[in-house]
Amino acid sequence: MIGRFKHGDEIFYGNVHDGRVSSFENGDISSFELSQLEILPPTVPSKIVCVGLNYMDHARELGMPIPDEPVLFIKPPSTVVEHGGRIVYPDCSHRVDYEAELAVVIGKRCKNIDALRVDDVIAGYTCFNDVTARDLQQRDGQWTRAKSFDTFAPMGPFIAPAEEFCPDDVRIRSRVNREIKQDSSTSNLIFDIPYLIEFISSIMTLEVGDVIATGTPSGVGELQRGDVVEIEIEGIGNLMNEVV
Ligand code: MG
Repeated sequence: MIGRFKHGDEIFYGNVHDGRVSSFENGDISSFELSQLEILPPTVPSKIVCVGLNYMDHARELGMPIPDEPVLFIKPPSTVVEHGGRIVYPDCSHRVDYEAELAVVIGKRCKNIDALRVDDVIAGYTCFNDVTARDLQQRDGQWTRAKSFDTFAPMGPFIAPAEEFCPDDVRIRSRVNREIKQDSSTSNLIFDIPYLIEFISSIMTLEVGDVIATGTPSGVGELQRGDVVEIEIEGIGNLMNEVV
């Protein structure tokens, strides 16, 4: 696993293994206990491209037809919050939902990537929570306000490198206060990751560190202030955040 960390004034990427973090910045190798370090969001994206309605089970749950093309929206980089950070419930909303999602982290600047060549541009995968002010989403008709409050994009804790992780059929779950709310598999994705990268990169240049959030399975629901929400993906880890 690859993480991004802070120690004193220094910010660096490191390899996480058995509770220890080793970094190789500036040619030097240093090693820390994970508990000595502040965990930062594992990437600093220029944009987060999200896919709406991309799980068979979620489409069935909503009684929606299977879409012909991915429905895209963007969350700004100011939404990002790290594992352990707080999700701030906005005063102007009365319905804030969690959405467990598998996120792809881009490792190479790219445009017009063929689905057969996406391995070249994927750095790895992480857990993502597409926090949504559902009442504002329904009221506005378009989604920018509902999806874009600061702290509405928890991600992490770390990145599973593409060489070590196969995203085709892994368990994805969410819990609120330890109770399981979503429990599905990425095998239920309507548009798979190669298709999504080809589709999105035909529209916009993807930059190193950009994130593609691939949609949520069935079982989305409401958060309250004081809740602890977790997104767990088999082979990646468990992203935990408190709502305040
Ligand atoms: Mg979503």
